[in-house]
Amino acid sequence: MFGLLKIRIVILAAVFVGLVPFVASEIVRTRADMAQQLGEINQSILTSLRRNQKAFIEVRLEVERLSETIALSRNLRSISPEECNESVAHLLAIQQKVERISLLRPDGVAFCSTDPRAIGVYFGDRGYFSAALASTQVVWSDFILSRITGKRILQSAKAIRSGDRVDFVLTIALNSTYLRQLSIEQFTLPLTYGMLLDIDGNVLDGGAMPGVEDRLSEETTKRMAEIGTGLILPGTYGAGDEVFGVARLPGSANLIGYGVTTEAVRSAATHAMIERLALVGLVALGLVAVVLGLLEWLVLRGLRQVVHVAERVAAGDWTSRITQTPLLPDLALVGRSVNMMLDSLEASVNTDALTGLANRRALDRFLLASLNRLKRHNIGFTVVMIDIDAFKAFNDQYGHGTGDDVLQVVGATIQRFARRTDEIAARYGGEEFTLILTETDPEKLRQHLEALRRAVEAVAIPHYHSPHAVCTVSIGYAAAEPDDSPLAAISRADGCMYLAKNKGRNRVEGLPEGRQDRELFSRFMTEVA
Ligand code: GH3
Ligand code: MG
Ligand code: MG
Repeated sequence: MFGLLKIRIVILAAVFVGLVPFVASEIVRTRADMAQQLGEINQSILTSLRRNQKAFIEVRLEVERLSETIALSRNLRSISPEECNESVAHLLAIQQKVERISLLRPDGVAFCSTDPRAIGVYFGDRGYFSAALASTQVVWSDFILSRITGKRILQSAKAIRSGDRVDFVLTIALNSTYLRQLSIEQFTLPLTYGMLLDIDGNVLDGGAMPGVEDRLSEETTKRMAEIGTGLILPGTYGAGDEVFGVARLPGSANLIGYGVTTEAVRSAATHAMIERLALVGLVALGLVAVVLGLLEWLVLRGLRQVVHVAERVAAGDWTSRITQTPLLPDLALVGRSVNMMLDSLEASVNTDALTGLANRRALDRFLLASLNRLKRHNIGFTVVMIDIDAFKAFNDQYGHGTGDDVLQVVGATIQRFARRTDEIAARYGGEEFTLILTETDPEKLRQHLEALRRAVEAVAIPHYHSPHAVCTVSIGYAAAEPDDSPLAAISRADGCMYLAKNKGRNRVEGLPEGRQDRELFSRFMTEVA
């Protein structure tokens, strides 16, 4: 109805067209954000790498302090293997960064260890072992593969002496998982890959960068050797670019490598943008719903009522009117105008154009309503038929225009004899009129209609062909019966009117109440014939 769908589509389209500048600005903003974000990556990578170096030094220092503390303990000289195992186990439990603590005998064989598999194993051939024997400090291996676990570890070693004699070599291995976790924590960017590299570009541990299997390319390795610590691949932020930096781990020949693909940064920014746009889209849809709801509430309800009334009028119900007052003043005005138009249409549709009396249509409805009242509530009434005498001759004599004037004058006269709201004066057709009167008393009725007859006569419209020399009417009337059809009621009155014609015109004849049995009526009608 009302092309409502079209209105909805137009509003929806309008709201979304209105969103276009917003979407465009979001895209521009996201691009700018992304450029800025990407620009910050270089710096962020360098910072992260430096933090890594610092963390690496700190964790080593911690292990060194631990080693010194253990070395100082007096009872180590006479400790049994069981006590030794117990002590190192106790130490390990509170040192999560440590993977293994062992005491090696001067011959290189493990005396005790937190890893039972290591006990009795020979480590004398390890570089850190001989280095520890030659030093008073804690010495460090580089990242090596554990002989026991096969995992990459960073091994510290310190010789524990009594005077010049070496009692044990204490070895503490740093947990590679802990180191990896520590390293990851130093990086500030969320989208990363980090790895442990040796100076030849081999990937020792960690997630490799895309396109790298187990070693960096020759070119990248060469750059790495030149730079030491810094960015090898500073991103230029074209498609597929990435930032990749390396940092020497202090006291180690190895390096930590760290990278971010700019693609990942870009897609994160795009995702965020899509989320924002989706949110705005939802809000816009909500807005459309609200606008449509308002439209419905303010405008369409009112218009629908107009349509409803129009449909009812088209179906013949001329009394249908707009009753609700819409909120919009303009629509209220439409409602009032439509009602006024319907009032005037209803009047004209029920009015005879020439005489201004009720027309045949209005008469039929009125008669039907009166018959219903008679049936239901026994409210009686009388049907009166009035016909102008010798009107054909009048027309022939004076012309139709004058004839029309006469119809108007006679009509107005008849109208004066139907005064009550439940009475009606109508033009039945041609020069015939009908009155429906509430009067049923025979005497009063006759007097009333005689008065009407005289009133027409008294207007004294000259009529050359009338024996009275003026226009006259013949009147017939009959009381309505409860089981009458409209036609039956009319035709009885009509019959009486013909009787009046027969009896010489300019007369009143009727069948008042109580004289309406069929036999009487047919006898009456034979008088007519
Ligand atoms: P009677 O006394 O028997 O009623 O004779 P009459 O001539 O009045 O009856 P008839 O039915 O022969 O003629 C009716 C005439 O009424 C015929 C027609 O010219 C005239 N008439 C009907 N309608 C109109 C109208 O709207 N205007 C005019 N001027 N004349 C009309
Ligand atoms: Mg007639
Ligand atoms: Mg006539």
